[in-house]
Amino acid sequence: MKTRLDHIGIAVRSIADAKIYEALGLEVAHVEDVASQGVRTAFLSVGDANIELLEPMSADSTVAKYIEKRGEGIHHLCFRVDDLSKHLEKLKAEGFRLINPEPVPGAHGCRVAFLHPAAGNGVLIELSEKVD
Ligand code: ZN
Repeated sequence: MKTRLDHIGIAVRSIADAKIYEALGLEVAHVEDVASQGVRTAFLSVGDANIELLEPMSADSTVAKYIEKRGEGIHHLCFRVDDLSKHLEKLKAEGFRLINPEPVPGAHGCRVAFLHPAAGNGVLIELSEKVD
């Protein structure tokens, strides 16, 4: 399978107050707390991709710090890949800066890893591999 867009992560203070997506006819398909990242996530399906709303669960989570510094807004892009470890090895070898050199647990039981925004032209990039 080719690398494809999985979701766009949007940092919000409150998922309940982020009403525009439902106003546009999108529905929340899945809500999950991701303890390892200190966030509550809500996924809204848009065709083949999703919007992921990220609400901080504590003041010291990275998303809370992000909102404090830059306000609410687009937080990251996530690409779905087949073999995450292989991609990370390749990116490392090519000199890209990684936040997670090894996969960590993400939402939906996926394995994920974040690349440094310096590697993504200022955009935080998440890679995700589905684990069945
Ligand atoms: Zn994400």
